[in-house]
Amino acid sequence: MKSDAIVLIVDDSPTNIKIIAACLKQHYRLKIATSGEQCLLLAKNMPQPDVILLDIEMPGMNGYDTCEALKKDHTTESIPVVFITGRQGDEDEEKGFSLGAVDYITKPIYPAIVLARTKTQVIIKQQRDALQQMALHDQLTGLYNRHYLLDIANKKIANCLRHKYDISVLMIDIDHFKKINDTHGHSIGDDVIKHVAGVLSSQNRAEDVVARFGGEEFVVLLDHCPIDDAMIKAEKIRKAVAEATLNNIPVTISIGVAHLDKQKNFDSLLKLSDLALYVAKDNGRNRVEQFVKQ
Ligand code: GH3
Ligand code: MG
Ligand code: MG
Ligand code: MG
Repeated sequence: MKSDAIVLIVDDSPTNIKIIAACLKQHYRLKIATSGEQCLLLAKNMPQPDVILLDIEMPGMNGYDTCEALKKDHTTESIPVVFITGRQGDEDEEKGFSLGAVDYITKPIYPAIVLARTKTQVIIKQQRDALQQMALHDQLTGLYNRHYLLDIANKKIANCLRHKYDISVLMIDIDHFKKINDTHGHSIGDDVIKHVAGVLSSQNRAEDVVARFGGEEFVVLLDHCPIDDAMIKAEKIRKAVAEATLNNIPVTISIGVAHLDKQKNFDSLLKLSDLALYVAKDNGRNRVEQFVKQ
């Protein structure tokens, strides 16, 4: 059966491309580049390749330089590179590995070898992607998990302090969720959490980080977003949750909003949004409050 994986073949010779493509075309989706420069472009384009088979000797940018450039760019660094080359020598092979390649195939091409080695790299890549997906996401909702949030938030905040732009955070908590569990059962409770997660995802831009922070708590990190815009956004989210129904179970959320001001880390920013959330709960729930200094 043909896999969904994409293999990018890079070679300046049309004959070589034909031979390599013939080994793989029944098994993988293929992309073709005839130069190093074109390889860099195609490697960045979505959907990105799962493996790159890279010729070494090419006019212009050769395979070594291409591999180096791929490994330097964080958007392409994790794509496995396999050199396919006419060069035979331990030094060439060593150089390939030192540049971050994962394998080295020498010509002449034996189709079964090219296929077997490509297959190995595709499997490793897919397993790594699956592990990463599990490590960074919450299983129930598919949103980012707390671990990822803390990691990315500290990076974003360091960047925001350096470049002096606004960053805001929403702390979101489902109202009277214990009652939903008690009335409808834990499994419906889970459905409600998933439902709220779905509304949160649909209300946010791709660059915002939406995470499940704990049981029925979520955090949204809004990059380049001043507090007034964050308040508008939070109100939109609150309204969307209150208006969407799930099996006629009324679900509402309360939201605490804060923005990075004098605090220098994410922890203290979160605490402010949490204080604002308490105020929202105290003031009757199903509402948005922003942190204000006393
Ligand atoms: P409040 O409006 O003050 O937030 O009240 P609440 O009932 O939502 O808050 P409380 O913290 O008392 O209860 C949260 C409940 O969420 C308790 C816990 O059993 C439940 N919970 C936590 N994680 C999960 C989960 O993954 N699934 C389900 N179904 N329930 C969960
Ligand atoms: Mg060549
Ligand atoms: Mg809670
Ligand atoms: Mg709650």
